Amino acid sequence: MGEFIKVEIDLAKFAGEEETANWVQVCPVNIFTIEANQPVVVKENEDECTLCMLCVEAFPTGAVTIHRLYEQ
Ligand code: SF4
Repeated sequence: MGEFIKVEIDLAKFAGEEETANWVQVCPVNIFTIEANQPVVVKENEDECTLCMLCVEAFPTGAVTIHRLYEQ
């Protein structure tokens, strides 16, 4: 788990495999990958998240949530 950022995936909100594969590629810092045909968070990359929200915008069903673990 990241020290500063926590990225969560709700698998129930993902659609098809093809859509998931395309979505994984939106993250510029490789937070996501696919294992056993399911999207997963690459925990060691989690703190690299730039809060760009491209992943959230790419999946408006709310399948991805980004939590900032620090105060601004
Ligand atoms: S907010 Fe941006 S950097 Fe963070 S996980 Fe989503 S796409 Fe990647």
